[in-house]
Amino acid sequence: MKATLTVLGSGTSMGVPTIGCSCAVCRSTDPHDRRTRPSVLIEYGGKFVLIDTTPDFREQAIREGIHQLDAVLYTHTHADHILGIDDLRPLSFLHKPNKLPLYAHPEAADFIRKMFRYIFDSDYKFGGLPQVELRKINGAVELFGARFEPIALIHGDSEIYGFRFGSAAYLTDHSEIPEASLERLRDLDILFLDALRYKPHPTHSTVEHSLETVKRLKPRRAFFTHICHDLPHEETNAALPENVKLSYDGMKLEFDIV
Ligand SMILES: [Zn+2]
Ligand SMILES: [Zn+2]
Ligand SMILES: [Zn+2]
Repeated sequence: MKATLTVLGSGTSMGVPTIGCSCAVCRSTDPHDRRTRPSVLIEYGGKFVLIDTTPDFREQAIREGIHQLDAVLYTHTHADHILGIDDLRPLSFLHKPNKLPLYAHPEAADFIRKMFRYIFDSDYKFGGLPQVELRKINGAVELFGARFEPIALIHGDSEIYGFRFGSAAYLTDHSEIPEASLERLRDLDILFLDALRYKPHPTHSTVEHSLETVKRLKPRRAFFTHICHDLPHEETNAALPENVKLSYDGMKLEFDIV
């Protein structure tokens, strides 16, 4: 089955341009240098699966004309990946008759429930809350005939999830990919990898580190995401190998999900 992946956001936690910054990338007029917070949408068989709800989700959904959501998967609970949860409201109201399911690692699900108590634990009688329900990920998640496998990643000192779905994998925020996870990333058509910048960072991969991952896993195509303002789009792309490119907001890719 064919699927389409849309890059909703390709930027790091602060987004590009970054508030208060006047560097060349933040002032760039190239639309590829405007990066909202990191998220992707996967469409197949008339269903729409979202990975993460960023603080920019509203803007991303309007830009891409999203009119339907059938499930949300969370990678982890950092603010840049969850703060858009309230903007699921309009799409959750359309998800009838059941609540929109949100899938997360058991600890991440507990965190989200606590952080957004007003959504999950209140009995607010005036309506207006996102109609969502949390489901804990316990192994692969089967969604509408496709399989989303959680892939454990090391992100600083915490363990988070990336996801493999068919011939594609989306591995945002990570500093290391454990050996056992690398084994599960063979024969990929599309591989998304965190590549914050050139300079090392304690919780994120760099361009150099992610190029090593590409060499090791040999996907047909690789795309970098969670990019900060150190990497000008055109200039960085020109220096990358043929099969590796920076992703950008609004990028669309086709692949086989089953
Ligand atoms: Zn992040
Ligand atoms: Zn800047
Ligand atoms: Zn993070």
